[in-house]
Formats: sequence, structure tokens, C-alpha cells
Amino acid sequence: MTSQTIRQVRAYTLRGGGADYHDQSDGHWIDDHISTPMSKYPEYRQSRRSFGINVLGTLVVEVEASDGTVGFAVTTGGEPGAFIVEKHLARFIEGARVTDVEKIWDQMYQSTLYYGRKGIVLNTLSAVDLALWDLMGKLREEPVHQLLGGAVRNELQFYATGARPDLAKQMGFIGGKLPLQHGPAEGEEGLRRNLEKLAHMREQVGPDFWLMYDCWMSLDLNYATRLAHAAADFRLKWIEEALPPDDYWGYAALRKNMPAGMMVSTGEHEATRWGFRLLLEMGCCDIIQPDVNWCGGLTELVKISALADAHGALVVPHGSSVYSYHFVITRHNSPFAEFLMMAPKADEVVPSFNPLLLDEPIPQQGRMSVNQLDKPGFGVRLNPECMLERPYSH
Ligand SMILES: [Mg+2]
Repeated sequence: MTSQTIRQVRAYTLRGGGADYHDQSDGHWIDDHISTPMSKYPEYRQSRRSFGINVLGTLVVEVEASDGTVGFAVTTGGEPGAFIVEKHLARFIEGARVTDVEKIWDQMYQSTLYYGRKGIVLNTLSAVDLALWDLMGKLREEPVHQLLGGAVRNELQFYATGARPDLAKQMGFIGGKLPLQHGPAEGEEGLRRNLEKLAHMREQVGPDFWLMYDCWMSLDLNYATRLAHAAADFRLKWIEEALPPDDYWGYAALRKNMPAGMMVSTGEHEATRWGFRLLLEMGCCDIIQPDVNWCGGLTELVKISALADAHGALVVPHGSSVYSYHFVITRHNSPFAEFLMMAPKADEVVPSFNPLLLDEPIPQQGRMSVNQLDKPGFGVRLNPECMLERPYSH
């Protein structure tokens, strides 16, 4: 069974939700005046779609084994990602043994170094890697979490990311992470409104429920430090991605500036063991948040996670749906997981990669039993109603 080779790799694109979860219609909380690095330009402040956050769309990669079994995975990458798969990476995948994930990963990474290393190339490489893990699981008739060494807990516990932590608490989540709405360009008034929002939420959820602020790379060191100290009064648990991802020095300084007990988290826009090595060795954060669909896939996440464990850092992957769930349940230094609230008003639990995947498991009362993950591979199917396009072939 495992001596099978890969017959073909195919890359498809999709618009409107899916893995590019920012690609939503009007009126969604995820596009409602959220602080970003572009917020200093008033014309790009009200909507993240206005500066092109959804320009890429979803990329779907399928790998087909010699017996016709198909594994697949998804990421944010759209047409440029499809081009990279079909025109460049296919040569390392087709004809290779299905189980040769280390060799395929290395060849994809080394051969794209001159234009890759992070960003869209690593997103694309992640989708290929995850499709191979899905295929291995299907051929062995085992869930990916078993291929990774097995579950260390019977269930996952989730915090919810979205505009309504008060509702997330009622739905059984252990915490709620709000998008920060006002950036440094909105001055003292903006800072006051950020704090009022947090104070209001703290009042709604009581003293023990976790509250976090996600700053999406949009602050500077001084603003982030002031926000953190003022937010300590409202028991903010961590401040997320406060600074641009290239500012490792800023993160190291911010962590030293933190009020006692408040954590710094970052890493959703970081990739590979080398990127995370910088974050860990420079003491940039308490929690790293690799996105499984962007950081290099599972093959790389296993290495990133081991490195983090040796540094005493937690690994709580960003979003990533099933690709995160199968990993988190196998790791002691990943004690809980993130759930992205993709309902437009963040008022109900819907699958994160809606509408792309069928059988995508969702938490119940903020929890997910390992039994919900006990299907071959990642246990999800492509929704045939989603109109996938294959813009390139080879
Ligand atoms: Mg984030």
C-alpha cells in the first residue's frame, strides 16, 4: 500500500470564502474597521478588502496516487499558487513515493529558495505537503493524528476568534479574541475606544473568561506597550501580533515591557523552522501561532513545534481548521486550539472553511472529541457545489 507513487498533482482556485477566509461579502465582522498596517491611510481604514486582503483567493491542491486514491489540501494562494504547483513543484511530486514527504518538502523548498522562503510560496508548499499527509492517511486508512504519534488528550478545547466574545462564552468556549479596531493613526481617541471595547467585554463575560486582542501587525512598540499596560486592568490574557512580523527586535522589547502575567503571541505570518527559530531564540513571544496552511505544512510544523517545546513556548496554531486539530491533539505543548468564528455576526458556530469542505468538524460547547477526527486523512471532502477552476496544467 505504502509503495504507491503519485500519478498526478493538480491545482485549483476558488473565490468566496474557503481557505481564504477573508474573502467574504459585505457586513462580515472580519472586514469591519480592523486595525491593520494600512490603517494609517484613511482611505483603507474601514475595510481590509479595500486594500486587497482577499485578492489571492483559495488554492486547492490534489495529489492522486497510482491506485486512484486522491488526497487534497487547501490554503490561501489562488492563481499564483496554482501556477507554482503546476509549472514548478509538480516535477518533485509526480512519480515520487507517497510516503516521501521529507524529500519532497526539501526539494520544493530548496528549488524555490531564490524566490520563496516565506509568503505565497510557503503557503503553496504547505498545501502540497498537507495533501500528501491526507493521501497517506487515506491509503493507510488512518487519521492524520495517528500518523503524527497519536492523540495525547481525548478532546480539544477551543477559544473563539471574533467580534463577540460574550456570545462565545455562552457557546462554551474558554476565551474570546477580539480584533483590535483602532490603530496608532487614530490617536488617543482610538486608544480610548479600544480600551472601552475591552472594558465592555470584560463586564459582559465576568472575571475568569479569557480575553485577548489581535492587533494584526498594526502597532508600534510604544503604542503596544501602552495598550498592554492599560489593558491589564481588564485582565487581557495576551496581545497578539502587535508589531510587523519582520520586527523581531520590537517583539523582544515588547515582551520585556509586558505587565506581569500578560503574554505576547505572534507567528501567523511567519514560516519555516528558521523563521520560528528567530522568534524563539530572540525571546519574542510566549506563544507561537504558526498557520498550518502557511508555515510549511505538517512536515515543517513538527520541527517548529519541537523547537518551541525546547524553548518552553506554547504552539497554538492560527486558524487552519482540521489541519490544526489533527496536530494540536497530538502535542503536549499545544494545550488548546483556535476556532475562527466565520458567521458574519460571530453569533453561531459554522465551519471555518465554509463552504469549501464537507464533514468539517466544529466544536460543541467549545470542545471537540478525538472521535470527531477519527476518519482517514484529515477526514474532510471537497464540496462538489464549489466551482473550482484549474487555471494551469502541465
Ligand atoms: Mg491573529
